[in-house]
Amino acid sequence: MQVIKTLKELSQWVQTTKSEGKHIGFVPTMGALHPGHLSLLQEARQCCDTTVCSIFVNPTQFNDPKDLEHYPRPIEKDQEMLAKAGCDVLFLPSVAEMYQQDETWHIELGNIEALLEGTFRPGHFQGVAQIVSKLFNAVQPDIAFFGQKDFQQTMVIQKMIDVLKMNVQLAICPIIREEDGLAMSSRNIHLSATEREQALVLSKTLFSLKDHFKDLSLADLRTHALQQLSAAPGIALEYMELCYADTLTPAEDKSRKIVALIAVKVGSTRLIDNSFLN
Ligand code: AMP
Repeated sequence: MQVIKTLKELSQWVQTTKSEGKHIGFVPTMGALHPGHLSLLQEARQCCDTTVCSIFVNPTQFNDPKDLEHYPRPIEKDQEMLAKAGCDVLFLPSVAEMYQQDETWHIELGNIEALLEGTFRPGHFQGVAQIVSKLFNAVQPDIAFFGQKDFQQTMVIQKMIDVLKMNVQLAICPIIREEDGLAMSSRNIHLSATEREQALVLSKTLFSLKDHFKDLSLADLRTHALQQLSAAPGIALEYMELCYADTLTPAEDKSRKIVALIAVKVGSTRLIDNSFLN
């Protein structure tokens, strides 16, 4: 695996790769890799001739400085995992490589950035769009692979691709879970043993929503899920919504595809999860 740290070197690699007619698959991450990230890489390897994975803890998408400071950065272990998984190029830039000091950025993302995550993390999706646009410009991928785990993020990226008319196809890969149901996340290592147990209520609630989707009304499904989450010890609920999957607006009937989305804090760790219900 080739490790590239500068945009200049990456640009040379991209030029050579494109001149060979190879299709580039790209997996952007913030590191602290787990099997969820590797599943995106496996998909990229199957669909494309060559794969680039980036590890960059993007400061502009963090609205809590403590969250940024404590974000796990086990770079040596990550590098080993990627090499073993058959990644061709790791792009590992510094903050100075990706940002000027006094950079401003705004892209019109419409309603999607104000909903759900946007309410609790103002400015988060502008930061995401900012770094992903820079990474797309640098890597020039044919297909970029993102996880359904961050479902709203995939919608934001698609919106950005449409607005900027970027020539990138988005592939959305399923959520990889621990055996007991917990969605894998880089943040899970912050959980104590008790919190790890308490965090199971996210996937349990989603699975139970799925199980009862046919026999309960949307109102009853909402009530049951909210009861399950508010009765759970150690859980501070941020939101639980049943939304239309194409707009993320609250679902009013079952005629369209519906996604349930949950965000909570377990202790000081923020966790999100989601599931399609039909
Ligand atoms: P992150 O490093 O958290 O920014 O995530 C990088 C990519 O991995 C994003 O597209 C995430 O949606 C995806 N991802 C994170 N966790 C999972 C998971 N459990 N299953 C599948 N994809 C995931």
